[in-house]
Amino acid sequence: MYNLFSQELDKLNIEYSENVPMKEHTSFKIGGNAEFLVMVKNLCELKAVISLCRENNVPYMLIGNGSNLLINDRGIKGAVIRLDGDFKNIIINDDEITAGAGASLTKLCLDAYKASLTGLEFGYGIPGSVGGAVYMNAGAYGGEMKDVIVSCTHLDKELNVGTFSLEDLDLSYRHSAYMKDEYIILSVNLKLAKGDGSLIKSRMDELMAKRMDKQPLEYPSAGSVFKRPEGAFAAALIEECGLKGRSVGGAQVSEKHSGFIVNKGGATCQDVLDLVKIVQDEVKEKTGYELKREIIFI
Ligand SMILES: Cc1cc2nc3c(=O)[nH]c(=O)nc-3n(C[C@H](O)[C@H](O)[C@H](O)COP(=O)(O)OP(=O)(O)OC[C@H]3O[C@@H](n4cnc5c(N)ncnc54)[C@H](O)[C@@H]3O)c2cc1C
Repeated sequence: MYNLFSQELDKLNIEYSENVPMKEHTSFKIGGNAEFLVMVKNLCELKAVISLCRENNVPYMLIGNGSNLLINDRGIKGAVIRLDGDFKNIIINDDEITAGAGASLTKLCLDAYKASLTGLEFGYGIPGSVGGAVYMNAGAYGGEMKDVIVSCTHLDKELNVGTFSLEDLDLSYRHSAYMKDEYIILSVNLKLAKGDGSLIKSRMDELMAKRMDKQPLEYPSAGSVFKRPEGAFAAALIEECGLKGRSVGGAQVSEKHSGFIVNKGGATCQDVLDLVKIVQDEVKEKTGYELKREIIFI
């Protein structure tokens, strides 16, 4: 069955690899092998791959840059799909930008700055793709994707291309309408404002310096592990409970930023899950707050 799948991919000249360690495709550097990693270059290839998966009973899932993922040690059955080629295009027209879901968010921020467009400075340094940023409504330092999105184009379950307006997207803190059903985000339309290039650049540099100062970027991680609970900050609660530096195997609550769990070397998915549980239990017991995971476990 899987043989047929790979033969069909070969016939269509679609790029793929077999038995790919997902630790090479996630910022956490954790995860077993995916049976297939398929790189699709355009909408036609994307539709063809999904159809082939369905016809051959190959489970599939789409990932962006893998910067918010914790992938299990047993790996992923079937195909992991990533958006490449045309999906990385960024087109700027006056103060509007259409960005492919496979483009890097940081590249998008740099392109906006080069066109003297302001509004995306907050996203500089978030290591995700544009699709992942929309899916998660990524945000930082007072800004979020919601502030700049006009609409978003996607592929639905029936493989029809559709568009969601900002309202349809139902964006809120680390939430989008895309979490409710099977959609693949194809591109996003943004509206920014004309600004002063040097001011945009200095704000981006300032935010990047803050990231470098506060975040443990020297170790692999998936960013903040927990969502911000109403009325508190996850990192402060974790620190208050004396959990800074707590380790399980190769996973450690960062000594630099308690909201991060870092991979100090050879951490397994199970190490991270066990550490997450310890943190959630102790924080609940000592402060009453329930910490919910932001990172996505696959
Ligand atoms: C050092 C570090 C710092 C970080 N700082 C921040 C920060 O300041 N703010 C913040 O919000 N996040 C931050 N993150 C987390 C992460 O970068 C964001 O959540 C980012 O938006 C995830 O994008 P991604 O492309 O990596 O998505 P992935 O991690 O690959 O996927 C996340 C989810 O999005 C879905 N997805 C991705 N692309 C698509 C698509 N095209 N269509 C449909 N679904 C899709 C995936 O299926 C998955 O469910 C940080 C992470 C790290 C490692």
